[in-house]
Amino acid sequence: MKLHMQILIALGLGIKRNGHIFFGLIAGVIIGILMHTQHAGTPEGSMAYNMLYSTLNFIGQAFIRLIQMIIIPLIFSAIVIGISSIGDNKQLASFGKKMIFYYTLISLSAVIIGGVLALAVKPGVGVQSFISEQAAISSQATVEAAIQEQKDHLANIFLNVIPANPIEAFSTGDMIPIVVFVMIFAIALSKVGEINRPVVSFFESIFAATMKVTDGIMYLAAPGIFALTATAISSFGISIFSSITKYFFVILVGFAIQLFIVYPVIMKIFSKVPVRLFFASIAEAMMVGFGTASSSATLPLIIACCEKRGVSHKVCSFVLPLGATLNFDATALFQVVAVLFLTQAYGIHLEPLMYVVIAGLAIVASSTCAGIPGGGIITIALVLNGMGLTTSQMVEGFAFLFAVDRIVDMFRTMLNVTSDAVVATVIADNENELNYDMLTSEESYKDII
Ligand code: ASP
Repeated sequence: MKLHMQILIALGLGIKRNGHIFFGLIAGVIIGILMHTQHAGTPEGSMAYNMLYSTLNFIGQAFIRLIQMIIIPLIFSAIVIGISSIGDNKQLASFGKKMIFYYTLISLSAVIIGGVLALAVKPGVGVQSFISEQAAISSQATVEAAIQEQKDHLANIFLNVIPANPIEAFSTGDMIPIVVFVMIFAIALSKVGEINRPVVSFFESIFAATMKVTDGIMYLAAPGIFALTATAISSFGISIFSSITKYFFVILVGFAIQLFIVYPVIMKIFSKVPVRLFFASIAEAMMVGFGTASSSATLPLIIACCEKRGVSHKVCSFVLPLGATLNFDATALFQVVAVLFLTQAYGIHLEPLMYVVIAGLAIVASSTCAGIPGGGIITIALVLNGMGLTTSQMVEGFAFLFAVDRIVDMFRTMLNVTSDAVVATVIADNENELNYDMLTSEESYKDII
């Protein structure tokens, strides 16, 4: 059977198993469209629709906050346990090397696909006046601040990964410095011998507790995803969607190639894991990634899916938190398309070398983004700088991307989460850390949500 058919069947099975979440997603889309037509959540909306919007917004935000609440203890404990259980330097180096190799491969394919599609289809040609019309809907101030922030960010990008004050990084939820600190701490801990036992046991307890909290929160997944999807669709300009179909088309085709061709081919070449089983094993996390548009919020669930279906705790707790913080391949694909879209819209000619620069910057910009809704659109300013757009074109273009971003964000987060799991599963296979009995057993598929 063709690979993409196998994947579709696997996803279908995953959806059937988690019908309530899928139902939440579909119902969210329908109610969202209805609320959009009734201008819910805007001054023109009726009181009833505005109340519906506020209620759904409350439920959705409560769901996301509940998950965010456990992300820092989860990342901290997972990395400490992961690194200390790997123990010997050789295995740690081997995990690290493989992780860099697979994440780089996936990111490179993403930017190449995005670039080739955007150059072939030219989605930006002729849409300049449409952008100016629509851009006014977003607040200029937010956009200008984001651009400025990214300029400052670029100067300090490498310095900022070292947290001068880890507590400050924890309190602001700044993920990359947090991960750097925790990794250094965990490596040191793994080198101090038996004396590390109390601390490691402490984090083992924390990890187990965060997983329990995740189980509890996942009972709210269906209403949470319903509410998030409905409010996202409602605030999204559906009319805009039809006017820039080429832009969405290019991004969605790029995502489809990455999802249905690149990931499966990587799995086939580098592991023995049946692609169908892999997709069935992470279907819940893919749906939650789509609904929440946040890789960080999906981290607890992707860890739970991978671990319950055979990827060892060692691999999950090392590879997945790092992936959720640093690997945003679909975001990189989107950023390349979005930047080329704007340069085409404003008729800017780019030298061939600039395409390579855009691809490289997109990989850097995407990996510095936060795994939250809209994280990738903020760091796009890093790629847009220096592309020859005037400040006002940049502000206008950026504001436009902002306004139409949410749906794209949902798709790209689903892919970002999937690629993290691809890398964890392939590494687990390569390192004899994958329990195939668990991957195939019916039992493993009961009870995540
Ligand atoms: N929302 C995405 C994620 O969490 C990041 C982005 O905006 O691209 O993976």
